[in-house]
Amino acid sequence: MDHIATPAPGVLLSSGPYERIVAGLRDAVETMSGLDPDAVLTAPPVIAREVLETAGYIRSFPQLVGSVHSFRGSKRDWRALAGREDWHRSQEISDLMLLPAACYHVYPQVAGRSVPVSRFCVHATCFRQEATGERGRMRSFRMSELVFLGPPADCLAWRDGWIERMASWLRGLGLDVSVELADDPFFGPGDHLMRDTQREQQLKWEMRVPVGGGVVQAIASCNLHLDHFGGAFGFTTDGGPAHSACVAFGLDRIALALIERHGREPDAVSRCLREKEGTRT
Ligand code: AMP
Ligand code: ZN
Repeated sequence: MDHIATPAPGVLLSSGPYERIVAGLRDAVETMSGLDPDAVLTAPPVIAREVLETAGYIRSFPQLVGSVHSFRGSKRDWRALAGREDWHRSQEISDLMLLPAACYHVYPQVAGRSVPVSRFCVHATCFRQEATGERGRMRSFRMSELVFLGPPADCLAWRDGWIERMASWLRGLGLDVSVELADDPFFGPGDHLMRDTQREQQLKWEMRVPVGGGVVQAIASCNLHLDHFGGAFGFTTDGGPAHSACVAFGLDRIALALIERHGREPDAVSRCLREKEGTRT
């Protein structure tokens, strides 16, 4: 029930039993969100390029970005290119990018609006152009996120509450996670000063656990964005930029960690998910 490799490194196929674990995890996140179905969104694997530009993602993570290019020439131009190895010579950047994280679909939904307190749950297939392909580091992977928008103190309290709740939920699934302040800065590499400031502000916490093959990966993260997205997309609260926070569940990495912990027998993992309170499978 493990992954099946494809000719593209980091792009994996999964079997039925593995997918049932992922589906169980997605359901669990939805149940924990406590949201009504209208606030639960499923995103396609692409997003408007202007959203990632506005969000500052491309500036911060240029090496991870995947862009969609397409052909806009005439049929005649195409005939001249078709069959050539460099057929992509005339491809041009389009209005779409591959989606790097689920929560980017939320911010444009509230752009320019006043948001007292808003919550969302977003399921997505994400893409990151990872340089390495060790276990659990894929280029295409599934992520579910809970997003909170509102006044600064509420965002901080929500994010901090989720650090506890996430760790205890994962431990309840038998995963011995360590909760760590993320080493990599949240808004991109930046300079040392920026990196230190971000660490001091404790913006990003990660849950780390073995995912097999002797590799430890972050399987989830709890993030505080301060007014980064409120400022960029112009959503406000109490007349000023709203703050935002998100918690991200890396479904593929959690599935790998569960398999590593409970063994390859599909029923063992499904049973463990079913038995966990608040989890439907
Ligand atoms: P991040 O936005 O970097 O905190 O990512 C949220 C979660 O997505 C991480 O905690 C991982 O569980 C998952 N994730 C991030 N990058 C990858 C990847 N390359 N392959 C699989 N899962 C990933
Ligand atoms: Zn997020």
